[in-house]
Amino acid sequence: MDPFDFHNPVRLRFGVGVFDEIGGCASDYGSDALVVTGASSARKSGLLDRTLERLEEAGVAATVFDRIMPNPTDEIVDEGAELAHEHGVDLIVALGGGSPMDAAKAIAIAATHEAPIRDYLRVEDRLEATEATLPLIAATTTSGTSSELTPFAVITTVSATMKSAIRSPYIFPRVAIVDPEATITCPESVTANTGVDVLAHLMEGYFSTEANPLTDLFAERGIKLVGRWLPRAVKDCEDIEAREMMSLANVYAGYVLSNCGASVMHGLEHPISALHPEVAHGAGLAVMMIAYAEHYWDRDPYRFGRIAQLLGRGIADAPVEQSAEFASDALRGLLASIGLDIGLEDLGVALEEIERIVDDALLYMGGAIAKTPIDLSRDDLIDLLEDSFTSR
Ligand code: MN
Repeated sequence: MDPFDFHNPVRLRFGVGVFDEIGGCASDYGSDALVVTGASSARKSGLLDRTLERLEEAGVAATVFDRIMPNPTDEIVDEGAELAHEHGVDLIVALGGGSPMDAAKAIAIAATHEAPIRDYLRVEDRLEATEATLPLIAATTTSGTSSELTPFAVITTVSATMKSAIRSPYIFPRVAIVDPEATITCPESVTANTGVDVLAHLMEGYFSTEANPLTDLFAERGIKLVGRWLPRAVKDCEDIEAREMMSLANVYAGYVLSNCGASVMHGLEHPISALHPEVAHGAGLAVMMIAYAEHYWDRDPYRFGRIAQLLGRGIADAPVEQSAEFASDALRGLLASIGLDIGLEDLGVALEEIERIVDDALLYMGGAIAKTPIDLSRDDLIDLLEDSFTSR
């Protein structure tokens, strides 16, 4: 066995009811917080008010920045950082799904560093965040990006039409608050999209050159949970048992993602939603999952065979490798059951855009793509997207 490293310094509070610990957790790290959230959902669900009440009880002052959109931009981050700076906050509280959490992490950097956040995202001569970065705690309201457990912040740089990630140990949240009940108001389509993001993090980590026995353990267990519980969570958004199991799958994915990083599907999805900001991240990932399995199942029959087995499509009483070719069917069945058996064309992407998407991916997501154990050329990536154009 090769030597390996496994690292995740985030304190995890998990379970129904832990949301109310947000005040106490915050007061361990600061007394004046910027609460970063989206424009409406945390307000509508009551979670924003609940956050503010718990912060007040714990003696933490709060300023709300509630302007985070899906696929958050460098411009909104710089605005939030300005506000944080003006108020002299000493702590960031992130509330919401991946977009508010990633924006909050970037604000934690930009608030205490001179340069605009785009300088931490550019392709060449990137700046690195320092220990001046504000401490952050994160309460997730989706089972999606697992941003609450990772050192990543994905931000779209408007002037460059580029969606890239900051990776810094200083943006690991100090505490992740994962309360399955807080995900119950997440609508059907968001539940499906974010669930596919979980599956992609698990699968990409499972096939990564960075995979190790611990990340494999989390990946296999997580894939099984997604296969069993995601369709139920989508069908009945208030099914608390399904929400709990998807929250757990998302935690497993967080340990996989924070150690392995993302790989080819994320590498190709980022340019898609940079060019089409209305595309939900999970939907962008769903389009290429089946084609990926169809193209490459025979390159790693053991792992694709395990995926077929974990999703309930393995051949009984046969060596695992014999199930490999059914991985794509298993994924098709799962995606169809949540309404995401879609192609690139369903996202509004034109066939002519595929070369640009691949070139952008190679320009700024090349590191992620290189984590695929299979050597993927530009032509291979174009083939993969062309075969993902219509629903499979
Ligand atoms: Mn993702």
